[in-house]
Amino acid sequence: MNDYPKYIQDLILEFSKLPGIGYKTAVRLSMHIINKNLEEVLNFSNSIKSAKENLKYCGVCGNFSEDETCFICKDSSRDKSLICVVQDVKDVYAFEKTRSYMGVYHVLHGVISPNRGIGPETLNLEGLIKKVNSQNIKEIILATSPTLEGEATSIYISKLLGEKNIKITRLAYGIPLGSDLEYVDEITLSRALDFRRDF
Ligand SMILES: [Zn+2]
Repeated sequence: MNDYPKYIQDLILEFSKLPGIGYKTAVRLSMHIINKNLEEVLNFSNSIKSAKENLKYCGVCGNFSEDETCFICKDSSRDKSLICVVQDVKDVYAFEKTRSYMGVYHVLHGVISPNRGIGPETLNLEGLIKKVNSQNIKEIILATSPTLEGEATSIYISKLLGEKNIKITRLAYGIPLGSDLEYVDEITLSRALDFRRDF
């Protein structure tokens, strides 16, 4: 059996490093790319390059941003005393789609997962504690996904903030257990937010 030419092998290797991409899919994607014309391929690779070069994490909340501070944290109409804690940047956009949330966010960039060796020290928690200690925060909404790891993370944070005089709430039920927030429709997510309960 002949191996693919080295250039294609390299491409297959890079694709197979992506989440959810097995070897067969990596081969299919590699062939797809090679069969495109050069202009299309350059557009694709340039969009990856410029996203990586131009985006960073907002220094305040951890959202993607082209500047030091993201458009949500810069917006003076947003209620800075209400913080919705989410596990991934994509969850910020899930809540933004509901158009009903007017507070700000704090992105953890992960969840605690003892099985995968991910402890609380790897999460963006320091910034949250700093905010709680230095600003007038009225409410923290713990909006991690309703999975075991998401729940464990929320419990950890609620204990961490337990002694502070802040209202801590959790999204209401109605979100299917075990689901990722990004797949929950806007109406369900909006209602889960409206009917949030004390943690
Ligand atoms: Zn921000």
